[in-house]
Amino acid sequence: MPLNKKYNISWLTGQFKESEQEARYRESIKLTVRRDTRLALIIVALIFAMFTITDYNLLGDTSGFYALAAMRISVVLACIALAVIIGRVGCLSSRPLLHAIPLWILATGIVVIIPLRPESLLTQITAVVVATMAFYLLIPNVLSIATCASVFLSVGFISAAVIFVDVPITTTMRLTLLLAMANIVGYCALLRLELLQRRQFSLLNDEREQNARLQQEVEHRRALEAQLRMLAEQDALTGLATRSHFIKRAEGLLRSARHDNSAFCILMIDIDHFKRINDSWGHMQGDIVLKQVASTLRCALREVDVIGRFGGEEFIVAMPNIECQQAISVATRLKSCVATIELAEPLDGISLSVTIGIAVKRDETMLDELIQQADEMLYKGKRSGRNRVEATQ
Ligand code: GH3
Ligand code: MG
Ligand code: MG
Repeated sequence: MPLNKKYNISWLTGQFKESEQEARYRESIKLTVRRDTRLALIIVALIFAMFTITDYNLLGDTSGFYALAAMRISVVLACIALAVIIGRVGCLSSRPLLHAIPLWILATGIVVIIPLRPESLLTQITAVVVATMAFYLLIPNVLSIATCASVFLSVGFISAAVIFVDVPITTTMRLTLLLAMANIVGYCALLRLELLQRRQFSLLNDEREQNARLQQEVEHRRALEAQLRMLAEQDALTGLATRSHFIKRAEGLLRSARHDNSAFCILMIDIDHFKRINDSWGHMQGDIVLKQVASTLRCALREVDVIGRFGGEEFIVAMPNIECQQAISVATRLKSCVATIELAEPLDGISLSVTIGIAVKRDETMLDELIQQADEMLYKGKRSGRNRVEATQ
């Protein structure tokens, strides 16, 4: 599909067919337009003023020269004043007429030169062609306004030439053809420029939209990833580490302990007679107990300890830098903490207890061996009547 059609640009005016889109485009070029207009007006005003020297050479110290100089000064001052105003508040979207004023002033100024200096008609032709090109290509404006001002300049100039200089018909025809050509070239060049700039604007917008979509997608994926990671690392019911995540973290702690030759223990904790709670009050109440025991254990441990849910109503703790005796005291403290849990209705009045098995790191013990040993200690405790702490020798 041709880009003009795809982006809804009129190939006659070089503008977006949708006014909102056109306004957005003009807003985006606001600062450039202001800067370019200011610069162009100052340059054009200076060139216009420079011709005072030619006027003096041609007319000398005459009233005609002073009339011409007064007109040139008015045009230059008007252009500079407009350059300042447009530089501050000009915007093609909201004030297109303000941008058009300099064109009318310059065009009128050039046309007025003919009656004031009729003998310089030939020099003026060049000035009109240059001004026409400047109207189209130098002073930023929309194509329609640039065309109107340029046609006004050409028609005004030819009319003034016919009225005040009395040029022969053939010269008038040649002049008309020349200015028509200048207008056509200027129109086509500005049209091409307008089309290209709007296509570029549309392509840039497309790219921005795609980037925004991509960014959204990346954020969505990141959120999903975080969610997946949480699911894999955090037990949904208790919020403790899952078994696999616990193993990963405990391996790390054990590796450091081996490296530093420091102490390391594994605690296996199992709620006593938990099945009875489920059987008597249902799984929902059982879940509440599990959550409460989990948070009590978590709070009673140090930041460096890692606690995970090993399965059902069993929890596992990895404790770095803790010798056997200290581990036994910690386990006894954990047992007391669980015993003091006050359950809400309908479980109020029930006291909970846990049995804890402890395994202590020896020189080259692997993590699964330690877990196995802690499990054995746990079952030793269960066999010995529960609500106890048992540790490897
Ligand atoms: P013991 O003192 O020997 O440990 O007895 P116990 O009843 O605690 O142990 P047992 O292994 O006989 O029962 C554990 C129960 O824990 C069985 C199972 O239904 C329950 N359970 C496991 N996971 C969950 C859970 O996520 N929520 C609930 N509510 N119950 C669970
Ligand atoms: Mg149990
Ligand atoms: Mg169990």
